Amino acid sequence: MIKVRKALSIILDSIRKPLPGEKVDLLDGPDRVLACDIRAKCTLPPFDNSAMDGYALRSHDTQGASKDKPRVLKVIEDLRAGYIAKKIIKDNQAIRIMTGASIPRGADSVVMVEFTKKVPGAKEAGEELIEVFKEVKMGENVRKAGEDVKKGEKVLKKGTILRPEDLGLLAALGVSKIKVARRPRVGILATGDELIDVKERLSRGKIRNSNSYILSGQIIKSGGIPVDLGIAKDDRRKVRRDIEKGLKEDLDILVVIGGISVGDYDLVKDVLLELGMDMRFWRVAMRPGKPLAFGTIDSIPVFGLPGNPVSSAITFEEFVRPSILKMQGVKNLFRPVVTAILMEGFRKKKGLRYFIRVKLKNKAGKFYAVLTGPQGSGIINSLVLADGILIAPEEVEELKKGAMVSVRLLRHGCDGEAV
Ligand code: AMP
Ligand code: MG
Repeated sequence: MIKVRKALSIILDSIRKPLPGEKVDLLDGPDRVLACDIRAKCTLPPFDNSAMDGYALRSHDTQGASKDKPRVLKVIEDLRAGYIAKKIIKDNQAIRIMTGASIPRGADSVVMVEFTKKVPGAKEAGEELIEVFKEVKMGENVRKAGEDVKKGEKVLKKGTILRPEDLGLLAALGVSKIKVARRPRVGILATGDELIDVKERLSRGKIRNSNSYILSGQIIKSGGIPVDLGIAKDDRRKVRRDIEKGLKEDLDILVVIGGISVGDYDLVKDVLLELGMDMRFWRVAMRPGKPLAFGTIDSIPVFGLPGNPVSSAITFEEFVRPSILKMQGVKNLFRPVVTAILMEGFRKKKGLRYFIRVKLKNKAGKFYAVLTGPQGSGIINSLVLADGILIAPEEVEELKKGAMVSVRLLRHGCDGEAV
């Protein structure tokens, strides 16, 4: 039996190179992983432009201006966003300008419309005049070309999981196609005579295959493509046949669920060995999830996950998810861990790392963790209700109420408060 940390390092060491990249449209980018650095081919914004609706002017023309001593300027043009001024601003002149319009030549700043007033009757008399009530600083309300992004700057790093805002930045820079890592194909083979598919009728003694569904979702959420290999019967020949069939599906990872423990019909480990698996370990010092096997067949990482739904989901989270991310070139493989105050104590077995499902409350900047109820490895609800997984270290035997504990966040939201 090996420790969780050791198991994880063996697994991650076996994944050396990220998968090759492929080009996709920007709109197919969310949650994909960049396969190369992106450098800006232009500046952002591309030209000096107005941050406000107002008047573009020369700042020195407003020196000493105030409510009582306004400066009068002549408005020589109207400028909307998307157009260029025809005229050049000279002394005591201004151009009415809308947010986002290019700063006219001659102007160095913009005064907000709120600090100006049209001189009544002036327009009728043939010229449009405004009063400016405020001294405007050089550069005021001007968004300078390149203040956001400079040409040639590295804006996104290889290995970034793309977020919506990244796509916006890329669009602004004129990048319409991006090179992202190919999504790993992850085969899922369930095993067990007791299992039927969700669409079949339940008869006595049978249960529905829920794990393949949890795992499919987990694979998709990690950026992989689930490849459903169905359910194998607890029969050596059939398990072997289905694994062999699965291995022909161009898989990047194979996950076999169940049949990996020490029961009479736990055949998976033997079959994997028969198929030439280089078994790196079997059994990890953790709960749930102890009977976990890992190795490679023809350099494809193969996981034998324990069959209990919570065990398979937790071992996926701890070991398979980081593998799928690493295959895509992601650097940061782990979800954030927060420190929480434990609201009910529990005892545990020394030597095993426990993964306790907890609900979190977030109050006044602190997290409070409550167990999601019974923690049996067959209780799917202990996972469904969980905001996070409390990771209880190997060396402790008891965690008391009030203890500070580490909780890996499983979802963005938990019971919190508006700030
Ligand atoms: P095993 O690891 O095959 O001994 O299975 C342990 C427990 O998990 C048994 O109660 C199985 O019925 C259950 N189990 C195994 N595979 C699945 C599955 N795909 N979906 C739901 N339960 C499962
Ligand atoms: Mg079984």
